[in-house]
Amino acid sequence: MGTKDGDIEFRCVKDNCGTLIPFSVKEIDRSRKLTCPACHNDYVFNEDLIAKIRKFDNLIRAVKDAEDILGSTNVGITVRGHEVLVPYRLMLTRLSTLLTLKIGSEELLFHFRVEPLKEREYTSLK
Ligand SMILES: [Zn+2]
Repeated sequence: MGTKDGDIEFRCVKDNCGTLIPFSVKEIDRSRKLTCPACHNDYVFNEDLIAKIRKFDNLIRAVKDAEDILGSTNVGITVRGHEVLVPYRLMLTRLSTLLTLKIGSEELLFHFRVEPLKEREYTSLK
């Protein structure tokens, strides 16, 4: 089990390239290097970076596994003196798919393309 091919992506930061570079955990584990298909800039991932990406990938999968419990859990957030309850599920679908890592002197924003957790409440109303 792991992310499927091309489930993680980031934009090339070389000059104004901006091309999306998709990859999977399996792929980066094997090659440790990604090359931009447009400008051929190389991105070399060290062990520390790969470990972080792997952990994040595991975390997302664990969240998906725990969907049943998380669906009924709320997080209290204080907004201008009032406590607002935000469903955990909603927070996770919005927040858990971006990871910023430093490669050399460049900060890269990795986007993990995961399906949103099931919207059970909505489907049961139909
Ligand atoms: Zn590029």
